[in-house]
Amino acid sequence: MRAVTYVKNNTVELLEKPVPEIQPDEVLLKVGGAGLCHSDITIIAMGDDNPLIGSTLGHEVAGTVEKLGEDVQGWNAGDAAIVSLVLGCGQCRECLAGRDNQCEVVSPRGALAPLSPGIGTAGGMADYIAVKARHLDPIGDLDPVLAAPLADAALTPMHAINTVRDRLTGDATVVVLGLGGLGHMGLQILLATTGARVIALDTDPQKLQFAEKHGAVAIKSDAEAPKKILELTGGVGADVVIDFVGVQPTIDTAIAVVRGGGAIRFVGLGGGSFSYIAGANDLPWGVNIERAYGGTRSDMRQVVALAQAGKIGVEVTRFPLDDAVKAFDELHEGKVQGRIVLVP
Ligand SMILES: [Zn+2]
Ligand SMILES: [Zn+2]
Repeated sequence: MRAVTYVKNNTVELLEKPVPEIQPDEVLLKVGGAGLCHSDITIIAMGDDNPLIGSTLGHEVAGTVEKLGEDVQGWNAGDAAIVSLVLGCGQCRECLAGRDNQCEVVSPRGALAPLSPGIGTAGGMADYIAVKARHLDPIGDLDPVLAAPLADAALTPMHAINTVRDRLTGDATVVVLGLGGLGHMGLQILLATTGARVIALDTDPQKLQFAEKHGAVAIKSDAEAPKKILELTGGVGADVVIDFVGVQPTIDTAIAVVRGGGAIRFVGLGGGSFSYIAGANDLPWGVNIERAYGGTRSDMRQVVALAQAGKIGVEVTRFPLDDAVKAFDELHEGKVQGRIVLVP
């Protein structure tokens, strides 16, 4: 079968690999779509000693059940399914508490990322993927091409939003920084599931138009943006800021516009930083900050349900699997609206 393989630093190739053998508790999924994420670009740029070299990429995967291991129950050939982002153990303290995105077995302290398809095990940018049946959720009649990005591009914002949901009341303001793959889904989830006013920032006018069309207040991300947000919030600042980019200007904006007692969720991996100086007043009193990662199985069920109800939808740019290398180049150059999905 064809498999998009990370062969060396900053290089992927479409290679021929054997169709995976399945274990008794696994399913062979015929991939219908595999999303291409900025973290794939980050992963392949980690140098020539990256242990992931040689592996098949792809952590946003949906498809149809092709073959079942002998112990698998509850699934039939032809069923459409989405693969969990974090392949939690299901048994540890974190998993049992519903925090499987923090599974202590597959996400030990200091790990690059929790075990995911394409990050520590063969991913879904291929014709087939083998996955434990318990790491699948049904998607009904959702198109796997449109469903695949839900596994990260919608799941991760949903998780970040769920950690601040009690703050997103009808009189609250939430700022979304970045309207790329994750941000454009975060925006829709906020508008579909909270009463808060949504202010969305990006540098790309087309993405700002998208935000406005969906009912957000759109502001061009530049040096003036923090001032505008403070004006819109009566000088007080935003209840919640979600940074889907993580570059220096977005982190600076987050710190500059969060209100006292507000919350920041850092999601994007753009390499920016902030310093905390005890006793200085750059960060208002009472601010809650979390470095949010991925999402739980419950978050996954929620985004699938919202997509099935037509309340959220991924803006998809399709690329045939054969054009995977070109797709990586286009994402790297920042040319993409919404999410690229590779279609075998
Ligand atoms: Zn991702
Ligand atoms: Zn676990």
